[in-house]
Amino acid sequence: MSTLLTNIAELMTQDMEHRVLKNAAVVIEGERISWIGAAAEAPAADDVVDAGGRAVLPGWVDSHTHLIFAGDRTAEFEARMAGESYSAGGIAVTTGATRNTSDYDLTRLALGRVTEAVSQGTTYLETKTGYGLDVDNEARSARIAATAVDEVTYLGAHLVPDGMDAEEYTDLVCGPMLTAVRPYVRWADVFCERGAFSEEQSRRVLKACKDAGLGLRVHGNQLGEGPGVQLAVEFGAASVDHVNYLSQADVDALAGSWSGDTGNGHRGTVATCLPACDLSTRQPLAPGRELLDAGVPIALASNCNPGTSYTSSMAYCVTTAVLQMRLSVHEAVRAASYGGALALGRESGNDVDGERAVGSIAVGHRADLHMLNAPSATHLAYRPGIPLTHAVWRAGARAK
Ligand SMILES: [Zn+2]
Repeated sequence: MSTLLTNIAELMTQDMEHRVLKNAAVVIEGERISWIGAAAEAPAADDVVDAGGRAVLPGWVDSHTHLIFAGDRTAEFEARMAGESYSAGGIAVTTGATRNTSDYDLTRLALGRVTEAVSQGTTYLETKTGYGLDVDNEARSARIAATAVDEVTYLGAHLVPDGMDAEEYTDLVCGPMLTAVRPYVRWADVFCERGAFSEEQSRRVLKACKDAGLGLRVHGNQLGEGPGVQLAVEFGAASVDHVNYLSQADVDALAGSWSGDTGNGHRGTVATCLPACDLSTRQPLAPGRELLDAGVPIALASNCNPGTSYTSSMAYCVTTAVLQMRLSVHEAVRAASYGGALALGRESGNDVDGERAVGSIAVGHRADLHMLNAPSATHLAYRPGIPLTHAVWRAGARAK
């Protein structure tokens, strides 16, 4: 079964050549892209979709979310907007509600959030555990996440639960909890921040998870300068996320991780910016422009979570990145598609094995496409707040 999408006014591929094609067409065959080029030269297909002069871009790759939770934190948000400062402690409210919710309801809630994201153009999603914070609840969060999203990250090291000693809890995260979640997860993450996990504790978590064969990510430098970025680079983490407060040494370390041999066999650490979270916590926006100018690849992600960023709108993140972080539309769309894929190690694939690349439009890549109700991607920033998602294909299947 093949589908030809034709009469595309602007096809923003985000492929290796950064191509933007006018009057273009794409052919989907099964779950993969089998052809792209000029509409006038398109081959025949079983089915034809007339884009009617709309723009098509890669589906968003949301590389940082926390979707496995129950409960509500509206009151905390109201208090913060009324002037109370954000600290790392509100997670306990969500942990309590999540532990008291059945598997069935947690799954239903997670799938509802995924549906909401996909209907806005997101086609590849990561999510984290981290609201269970005991062995059984972290394991079931990981198990549920694995049924709901594409990539699962173990975040037992989100916060030390009330009444527990930080060192003892770190032992648990590195030991029995890691063993329990291991079958369901590909990644591990640690919240390295004042009020969360110290440098030494973070180092222990990263070491144990790396030894267990997991890829690494770090929440770092959100509330102030700290060791998060340096740890991420030292351990060859795929990404360090938040990055609001960076020293010149942090920027240099991130740029250096992409140039030449780092000695750890890894290709580099992506800086993941979370502008919706920054606005919702009234933190300074992450320095995405400066990072790009320094040669650091960046990703944009929603950080969808009930405490600090209750939105899965990647368009909102892209709009903010253009209007307030001084990225071009092309750079912002790239960070929200190819950049997310890079942060998840999914930017390239093997067409033969079916491990398909996501986050860009090229032959052999997964057919994850986002058609806007606009003639160009520029409208995402030119018409902020307007819901522009017209149609979505996820792994070749029409999802909206
Ligand atoms: Zn997060």
